[in-house]
This record gives sequence, C-alpha cells and structure tokens, in this order.
Amino acid sequence: MTMQVGKTSTADKLALDAPIFDPVAFRLDSEQTDIIALAREIGQSVFAGRAAAYDRDAVFPTENYLDLHRVGLLGITIPKKHGGLGAGYQTYALAAAEIGRYCGATALTWNMHVCSTLWSGPLADDLDMDDATRAEHERRRAIHYKRIIEDGAIYSQPFSEGGAAAAGGVAFGTKAKPVSGGWIINGKKIFASLSGHADYYGVLCTEIHEGEKASRRHTLYLAIPSRTEGVSVVGDWDPLGMRGTVSRTLLFKDVFVPEDAALMPRGVYFQAALRWPHMFLTLSPTYMGLAQAAYDFTLRYLRGEVPGMPPVKRRMYPTKQIAVAQMQIKLEQIKAIWFQAITEARANPSKEQVLRAYAAQYSVMEGANELATLAIRTCGGQAMLKSLPLERIYRDSRCGSLMLPWTAELCLDRIGREALYEPGESDD
Ligand SMILES: Cc1cc2nc3c(=O)[nH]c(=O)nc-3n(C[C@H](O)[C@H](O)[C@H](O)COP(=O)(O)OP(=O)(O)OC[C@H]3O[C@@H](n4cnc5c(N)ncnc54)[C@H](O)[C@@H]3O)c2cc1C
Repeated sequence: MTMQVGKTSTADKLALDAPIFDPVAFRLDSEQTDIIALAREIGQSVFAGRAAAYDRDAVFPTENYLDLHRVGLLGITIPKKHGGLGAGYQTYALAAAEIGRYCGATALTWNMHVCSTLWSGPLADDLDMDDATRAEHERRRAIHYKRIIEDGAIYSQPFSEGGAAAAGGVAFGTKAKPVSGGWIINGKKIFASLSGHADYYGVLCTEIHEGEKASRRHTLYLAIPSRTEGVSVVGDWDPLGMRGTVSRTLLFKDVFVPEDAALMPRGVYFQAALRWPHMFLTLSPTYMGLAQAAYDFTLRYLRGEVPGMPPVKRRMYPTKQIAVAQMQIKLEQIKAIWFQAITEARANPSKEQVLRAYAAQYSVMEGANELATLAIRTCGGQAMLKSLPLERIYRDSRCGSLMLPWTAELCLDRIGREALYEPGESDD
C-alpha cells in the first residue's frame, strides 16, 4: 500500500487548508483521516495549480492520474490484501470531496474510475450470490484490481445513452450477445467521461436472452478494453463546465469481450440498483468539494488574501458579512445532510434513508451552484476573471444537477412520489 504525496509535492511550502470535515468533530478514525488528508494535500498542492489549463483546453487530467496512481489513490477502495487502501464508501466520498475542492473534473472522473472497484467491491459484498458465483466474482475482480494497482489502469463508467435507460426507466440499449467465451457488444454511450483516456470502459449493457424482451434484470457491467477492435470515440467536447472530463461519445461495433470482463456477475447490478441505492449518490462528493471551494474563495477574497491579487480587504461591509453568513449557513446545511447520507449508505436502507439520500444529492448539486452564484455576487467583477478559480467553480458546479440517474429534477420527482405512496400503492 503506497500512501504519500511524495518528493514532487509542494505541500510543505503551502499552508494546507483545514479538512472540509474535521476528523474529531465528525468522528473519523485515524486511517480515514490519513486517506482524506492525502487527497486534500495532493488536491491543494498539485491539482489546484493544473486545473485552469485542463479547463481552458478541455483536456483530460492525465498528469493527475499518474499522481493518483503514484500515491495509491487509484486503488482507494481496493482491499488492502490486493494492494489498495481498503477504504469504504464514506472514506471514499470524503476523499473525493477534498479532490473536488481543487479540481472538479479530476474528482468527477476519479469517481467513475473508483466506482468500478467500489461497486464490484464493498457494495457487491453486501449482495446475495451463491458460493460458486461469489468465488468466481472474487477471482475476476482480482484481475481488475491487479491492473489498477500494478499498471495504473484507469476505468470509466459510461451508462448514459440519451434515452430513458440512464434514468433507470428502461433496459440499456447497448446489447451484449452471449457467444462462446464471452459477449459481442453493440451500442452507443453519450457523455462518456474519460473517453479516449480510460484503459477500460465499464459499460452497462443488456444481455440478450433469445425470445425474451430486453429487461433491466439482464443488465451486465462489463470492462471493455479501450483498445479493442470495434471501439471508437467520436464527436467533440466543448461544454460549459467540467471540461476536463472529456465526455465524448463511445461506439461499440461487434466488440468481443471475454467472460472475465464482468465487473459484476449476472443479475448483481440489477440487485444493487434496487438494494444499494446510495450507489447513485457517488457523483455528489465532487460537488460537495466545489461548494466548499466557493466558500473558501469568498473568505480569502474578502480578507484580501487571494494569491496574485492586490491585498484589498472588503470584509468590513455589512452586506458582505451577511452574504458570508448566508453562505456559511448554506454550507453547513449541505455538509450536515450529505455527511449523514454518506454515513448511512448500506444495503437495504430504510425508506427514510433513501429519501434522505435523494435530498442530500439535491442539496449538494443545487447548493454548490447557489454558493458559487452568491460568491460571484459578493466578491464582485474582478473575482470572476478567468485568472481566478471562481468562475470555473461556478461553471463546474452548474453541471451537478444534470447527472443521471439522480438529476435534481428526478430527485424531486422521487421524493414527492415515494413520500406520498408506499410501494405498489395507487389511487385507481
Ligand atoms: C460533465 C458531465 C459528465 C458526465 N459523465 C458521464 C459519464 O461518465 N457516464 C455517464 O454515463 N454519463 C455521464 N454524464 C451524463 C449525464 O448523466 C446525463 O446522461 C447527461 O447529462 C445527458 O442527459 P440528457 O440531456 O440526455 O438527459 P435527458 O434524458 O434528455 O433528460 C433531461 C432531463 O430530463 C429529466 N428526466 C430524464 N428522465 C426523466 C424521467 N423519466 N422523468 C422525469 N424527468 C426525467 C432529467 O432531469 C434530465 O436532466 C455526464 C454529464 C455531464 C454533464
């Protein structure tokens, strides 16, 4: 297990930021504290300085991934016996928030990568499998772990297709036809972050069962090597925010993948989506970090402490003090509900816990951009120049509400419906 920022770090020269979640106040153990501190340190000392260029040119943060591998964070949720850091869901989420604080695109893409090991790891351990299936899954996931730990392999997670599948409504249109020794994949994924940069695309697709209608029950989660024949990346990527994610379109044309490509056994993704709903809350840590970043920037700016800016203080104006108070209240509200939701992530959560997870997702995704908006209004015109990070935080944070399957709109839909109706209830 590697776990240090290393010699190239400038952390010793910087005054490191305090953690978003103080380990004592939030009762984190020393192992969690160390992993989260590692993420914060590399985020602040290394990633923050590179973020503007990735954003400006809409290029993938390749150098950050080499660093994530070097310090061990590529394998954050891989069990220690396989060479990883052995972190669970909560630790991962807290570490990802610290990275999002300094580079949104790195945190968001890192989430896609980490989910391949989180979903096939601690999450799958909570789900039902017979002994033979579990043993086979254990053998297969060790193959993925080894690639990540030894080779620095990067995984992505394309599931959006532009239709209703990513929202969980219908079966994925990308199809996996069973053939001897594996599957033949055909389909298309849009907004596929890390396209052209990941070594493996963790694709969600529907296994074809002859004579049966396509069903979400038959969803497969397969790691397709990016350099396989029939895989192509098309289209451009020039979005408002999260520009370094390079979320272009992926095409699969008669792509063969062997059985060992399965990140989860048959039926397990479907089970996870029903029984482990917090699996869809993992896009939120990035935006928790952006919310904190908007607040951090505002305090520094009003105190006249932003590097590269004249040391003009603006903190003495009562309107600015009130705005900071509003930001602090909003930030604490977001932190409280989000920390509770990531702490109670588990199999078979109660109805109250699921509603809270939706509410946490909504609060973070909308709240991060509200904080960035308030930060711009409060700090003023000079603060939104592209030479400073605030305008990037504003644009990046605007993207959070759009992330399927738990977009802000869908969270509202689900909270309203699931609060008012028990499963199976109707007014007919
Ligand atoms: C920066 C960024 C990175 C991304 N990276 C990835 C990635 O790596 N992998 C990936 O799979 N996807 C990724 N996405 C895609 C994302 O999850 C969405 O799929 C994407 O924003 C496209 O949405 P759409 O416009 O096709 O949504 P549509 O399906 O057209 O929906 C538009 C809106 O309508 C609402 N809506 C959708 N379905 C329903 C419904 N059934 N009922 C009520 N309302 C509904 C939702 O609020 C949604 O925002 C990324 C998106 C962004 C912005």
